[in-house]
Amino acid sequence: MPLAAAIRTIPDYPKKGILFRDITTLLGDAKAFRKAVDELVQPWCGGKIDKVAGMEARGFILGGAVAHQLSAGFIPIRKKGKLPHRVVSVAYELEYGVDEMEMHEDAVSPGERVILVDDLIATGGTAEGAVKLLRQGGADVVAACFVIDLPDLAGVKRLQALGVPVRTLVAFA
Ligand code: IMP
Repeated sequence: MPLAAAIRTIPDYPKKGILFRDITTLLGDAKAFRKAVDELVQPWCGGKIDKVAGMEARGFILGGAVAHQLSAGFIPIRKKGKLPHRVVSVAYELEYGVDEMEMHEDAVSPGERVILVDDLIATGGTAEGAVKLLRQGGADVVAACFVIDLPDLAGVKRLQALGVPVRTLVAFA
């Protein structure tokens, strides 16, 4: 079954006019979940990746599985105020206004090769914030991987302009 068929679309969520792409159906389907993780990691199997960074909250689920598959560590990138130790933080754009995301200041060491993982890239604002945090810690951001791309919102181009190679599995135009 193609991965796209395992993703549910919910109209008018979280507000009218938005088509929400819901990966909980993919996560609940053992074959589709394995296929998505296998396809996300495929270019780096056998290569050296030190850590995988995942964005709260769906990036934790996918990123944890990807990290396990690559025998890499995992870095949680969280919304402001959720991490217990000293953090570095960055402002990132929301549809209306800005918010902050945070990472533990010792989560990454200079020169470590890191892959960023989330469920979906839209404008790329969230992923750009995460790349900034990781680079602040001296990480080499080797790639960013997403199950879903919304190409009309051009987030992939935005990340590529930062010098980050991007891997996506399913596009919804
Ligand atoms: P961006 O910052 O505009 O690229 O938005 C991406 C972030 O918003 C990711 O963390 C996604 O999990 C979340 N997001 C935006 N739209 C959707 C959607 O349709 N389904 C699931 N997550 C979404």
